[in-house]
Amino acid sequence: MIVADEQIWNRPSAPRLRQWGRALLDALFPLRCGACNTWLDGATEDPLSRLLCPDCRASLDLIEGPICPLCGQPFASDAIGDHLCGTCLAHPPVYAMARSAGIYGPPLKTLIHNLKYRDQRRMARPLGELLYRTFRRHWRHRTVDLIIPVPLHPRRLRERGFNQVQFMLRRWPQLFPASAAVPMADDILVRVRHTASQAGLDRGDRQRNMHGAFRVRRPETVTGRAVLVVDDVMTTGATVAACAAALTGSGARRVDVLTLARAL
Ligand SMILES: [Zn+2]
Ligand SMILES: [Zn+2]
Repeated sequence: MIVADEQIWNRPSAPRLRQWGRALLDALFPLRCGACNTWLDGATEDPLSRLLCPDCRASLDLIEGPICPLCGQPFASDAIGDHLCGTCLAHPPVYAMARSAGIYGPPLKTLIHNLKYRDQRRMARPLGELLYRTFRRHWRHRTVDLIIPVPLHPRRLRERGFNQVQFMLRRWPQLFPASAAVPMADDILVRVRHTASQAGLDRGDRQRNMHGAFRVRRPETVTGRAVLVVDDVMTTGATVAACAAALTGSGARRVDVLTLARAL
């Protein structure tokens, strides 16, 4: 189902009572910038104003220029517009389309790191909003039947205590009622292999490392469906490609990918 049109960035201001509530909360518990830790002056309607100071917001590198229409890789020059990248020309991905909100560099990298490893869960809401803004922009005219966050291996989930992607997605139905039209399933895709850290591995090694790392429980729930796989960071795309392979192997009609950040 395509999510009904919704003006998320220009929506009318929140009810006055809620504004007062926020102002009171800000006065009692002033916020710090999630990236550089300076005190935040005051929030505006932009959800990122409750997360980043003006300097860090200005350095946020959102992907807005020309990209590869398949894997979403951004190009430095906007001379030609969107075009296939060399990697997709040589090896078309298993997924149909991948898009990311921003480049995996500061301050987005710091925010994701703090959410994951320093358990700063207050970031889940504004980062979830940024993720939704990207979803609205790129899937406006594209069907999605089911949203699936990339699962952690149960051992990692026990260590961390939460799945950061689930945390961001869980905010969607509450913040953006239109998104409730698309069901989310966090128990269908399972990580069956605890993979070593991918850092320092090249593309081929990452693909071998991730091969067979995911399994689909109850394949009938994805058969014939257009699935959106969501992750926090896309590096070479080996993780989301392994998810897409498992899902298409179980009969998914199409797999798209949405991530918050993308490494260059
Ligand atoms: Zn800052
Ligand atoms: Zn590409």
